[in-house]
Amino acid sequence: MRVHHLNCGTFTSALMGRLVCHVLACETDTGIVLVDSGFGLADVADPTHRVGRYAKLTGARFRESETAVRRLETLGLDPSDVTHIVATHLDFDHIGGVADFPNATLHTTAAEHAASEGRSTFRERVRYRPAQLSPAPAVRTYSGPGESVLGFSGTHPIDELGGRIVLVPMPGHTRGHAAVAVDTGNRGWLLHAGDAFYHRSTVAAPGQVPPGTEGRALRVMEELIAVDRSKIRDNHRRLRELNNQAAPRVRVFSAHDPTLFDELAGERG
Ligand SMILES: [Zn+2]
Repeated sequence: MRVHHLNCGTFTSALMGRLVCHVLACETDTGIVLVDSGFGLADVADPTHRVGRYAKLTGARFRESETAVRRLETLGLDPSDVTHIVATHLDFDHIGGVADFPNATLHTTAAEHAASEGRSTFRERVRYRPAQLSPAPAVRTYSGPGESVLGFSGTHPIDELGGRIVLVPMPGHTRGHAAVAVDTGNRGWLLHAGDAFYHRSTVAAPGQVPPGTEGRALRVMEELIAVDRSKIRDNHRRLRELNNQAAPRVRVFSAHDPTLFDELAGERG
């Protein structure tokens, strides 16, 4: 499986530095599968309507050239070949691009879909933006006991994708947040952890990567916007173990860490 790492959105702020929106484009036998989708064309055209006035506080930069549809075109790929989008969660900076792929089915956990439909708290009304999923895409949701993959119980391998792309429920950041594991074949496993952590220091071996000012600021923000702080701390521990285990080798990265993005994007796919 060939996997492209795309940055489909940029945030800049004095405190947290540069952040990216790390999107995977996986070339599979059943078409192109995206993991997350970043910001889309309609977000760039009208950010206030689509993502709301709070998006400005995040330092989001809206650039058409960074949207997944334009990134794929730049790679010489046909956006109409995108058949599936697997979402880590449904926050506005992860699903803005869904509308640009009308042929695609959106895969998410049932818990996340319900949270985004319900928008029952102030925080959820800020993070979930109905305009981005209107008109509604085809959606498939996942719940129940699931299977064991990479030491995680309760995961959901996606059948149409031959089980090589797996939703790994990891609530905490949002109610139905999930990581997405991708079995690339000869290049091993990738684990897109979405917003289950922000800064690379969180999953590095102890003492290996100092958090610095940006890492500490991100840790504070992470706790502020999480729906369950004790769960995100538990997720950090599990992700750190996975990232540092000898075998099987799993490359763990978050949606927004720019250094992990640059490392992976710089490798030959
Ligand atoms: Zn995010």
